[in-house]
Amino acid sequence: MSENQIQAGSSVESLCKKCKTVTDHHVVAMLGDKIAKVECKVCRARHSYTSPKAEAKAQAAPRVRSGATGTVKDAPQAAAPKAASPRKPSAAASRQAQAQAEQWEKLVGSCPSPLTYGMDRTFRSGDVIDHPVFGAGYVQKLMKPNTIEVMFKDAVRNLRCGKLS
Ligand SMILES: [Zn+2]
Repeated sequence: MSENQIQAGSSVESLCKKCKTVTDHHVVAMLGDKIAKVECKVCRARHSYTSPKAEAKAQAAPRVRSGATGTVKDAPQAAAPKAASPRKPSAAASRQAQAQAEQWEKLVGSCPSPLTYGMDRTFRSGDVIDHPVFGAGYVQKLMKPNTIEVMFKDAVRNLRCGKLS
């Protein structure tokens, strides 16, 4: 004895051709242990039973647009990853970063021979240096006698340098 014995009058899900979707149906007639005929609870249409799985299969198949009856509003949209970047930089911040990168390009790009950076070397504001790790940078100003503020492409960094005599 199965608990979910389906018989005439049972509620089943079936594909309704009129509703064009899977709806609740009453079983109208059985054929052995198979559902033969069902009545759609939504539109009351009686038709042969079509397994909801058949619908799922049809959905998975590539859709052909006929244009006549094809409202494809239920197209899968869950594909868009929404939680991908929880910490998006604000528009203002990215604008500022871009402006800085552009300025850096202008200042550094025009210098044909950047000075090789060294902690014991002295620099002046306006110099363009070549740092082994951070790359090319523009000396914005002298912070302390032995520190320079250098604008690299991605950030401004304070670097040690030789003491000005
Ligand atoms: Zn129906």
